[in-house]
Amino acid sequence: MESPGKKVFARRIRTANPASLPPLATRVQCTTPRRGRQQSAAATSGRSSTNQDMPPFRTLALTIALCATTTALAQPPAPSSGQRYNRLLIRNAMVIDGTGNPVRGPIDILVEGSTIRSIRMSRATEFSGTQVGGDTASRADRVIDATGMYVMPGIIDMHAHIQFSRAGKSMPKDYVYKLLLGHGVTTIREPGSGEGLDTMVAHARLSSENRISAPAIVPYATAGANTPAEARALVRSIKQKGGQGLKVFVNRTDVWEALSEEAKAQGLPIATDMKIQEHDVLDAARFGIRTIEHWYGVPDAAIVGPQDFPADYNYEDELDRFRWAGDLWRQADSARLSAVIDTMIAAGITWNPTFAIYEANRDLRRSQTQPWFADYLHPALRENFEPDPARHGSYFFDWTTADEVRWRNNYRIWMRWVREFAARGGNVTVGSDAGFIYQLYGFTTIREMELHQEAGFHPLEVIRNATFNGAKALGLSNTGVIRPGYEADLAIVDGNPLHNMKFLYAGGMTVHENGQAVQRGGVKYTVKDGIVFDAQQLLADVRAMIQSANTGGGVAPD
Ligand SMILES: [Zn+2]
Repeated sequence: MESPGKKVFARRIRTANPASLPPLATRVQCTTPRRGRQQSAAATSGRSSTNQDMPPFRTLALTIALCATTTALAQPPAPSSGQRYNRLLIRNAMVIDGTGNPVRGPIDILVEGSTIRSIRMSRATEFSGTQVGGDTASRADRVIDATGMYVMPGIIDMHAHIQFSRAGKSMPKDYVYKLLLGHGVTTIREPGSGEGLDTMVAHARLSSENRISAPAIVPYATAGANTPAEARALVRSIKQKGGQGLKVFVNRTDVWEALSEEAKAQGLPIATDMKIQEHDVLDAARFGIRTIEHWYGVPDAAIVGPQDFPADYNYEDELDRFRWAGDLWRQADSARLSAVIDTMIAAGITWNPTFAIYEANRDLRRSQTQPWFADYLHPALRENFEPDPARHGSYFFDWTTADEVRWRNNYRIWMRWVREFAARGGNVTVGSDAGFIYQLYGFTTIREMELHQEAGFHPLEVIRNATFNGAKALGLSNTGVIRPGYEADLAIVDGNPLHNMKFLYAGGMTVHENGQAVQRGGVKYTVKDGIVFDAQQLLADVRAMIQSANTGGGVAPD
């Protein structure tokens, strides 16, 4: 189904040793004319410029390369707080390997550079023999004691929009990245950013070189065209700019065909949501798409005749669109749906359902009052969520009890078919689509996992959907599993997510221990490509950003 061994750009470029990167000061200089600064330094010191004042050639070359990257971005995110080690030892961990296997532990995980080198029992047992960790601790240059913690593969969010502004107002550039990393997300597929493909490709590179605190980014580009020729040219230009895939919105068969043919020739996978249009998921199967986003096009393929909307329905009115979309699963014919699901599986389509992004439709008040908004919701995003007919996803005018009931029923049928799709061998993944409809980055990824559990997936399967299955869908053959030789993409969690997915949320949960109410949970460390991030520090950084924004500090507009 996938082409193994084909690694994406974000994973290919990797700097072996972060110490070889130029210091931050060098980067700051990039924003000011270098010659001017050098001249004034020489003038104040009263010395003539000598070779000693010049940076060594290698540093200079790096600096020029970096400046070329950063000047393309008006205001880059803050420098990375993560560090990679020659030998990192994670001791006494309970391990959820991501494939659906049961938990094992306590285990010592040895990471060398960016790669998991060995996985061994922490204590000698009758079976472990010479496999016990032994003296590895003394040779490690960083040891994390994970006693009482659970280690799972880093989460792959298959639908993570990167946004630097909402409602026309800027947010700090590392706000979204830190919320994701702080929740154990180590890889994202960016499904077409409003910030532009060039910026996303540049950030993918900065992330892979540990210059910013961000998950590994697989940048897709939004692709829409009016003619077949336009479609082919667009696909080629996306490939040339470094795009790793396409998010396609097209409503014409000839354009779809040209686009998918050219995408195949260029080796770019296609993600699509079929919206409510003349094509459905059966066409998607014919076009050879890789992933179906959300669910549009699935029930549609099983409805006899057109969708049964009220006579005064207008697709361009988002309230109409989202209100009545909630009825499509009820309208679908079960026998036909069963055949549609089989066709999707036979075509190798991954289903990325994004349950959480529609949750306000079934429980508006719950979504509007999520407990983490106080500390983590940026005022620009808060404003974006307010009902406004001019904005995407802000359609809650006169949202009724009847609407919520329709959507609850919709979810029941939808979830049953996603579960059935997986039971028949289909690949299901976790994607959040946060940044719209009261859904906050990072938190929504975890909420999505809770909703997979609600859909009937065992918690081990939920974690597999969020890790191993995402890697499969992206064609990443060496992440998403905790296994020697794989990239060290890990979430170290203070609690057992199989017992309670809520342990993955920032702030965790209150539990009862030894007669005391104590707070447990949260991701303690996120390890991306062997780079260790203090997840709790990243979340503290975000809280500081929000505090500053709420008290008027904010960020300068771009
Ligand atoms: Zn989206």
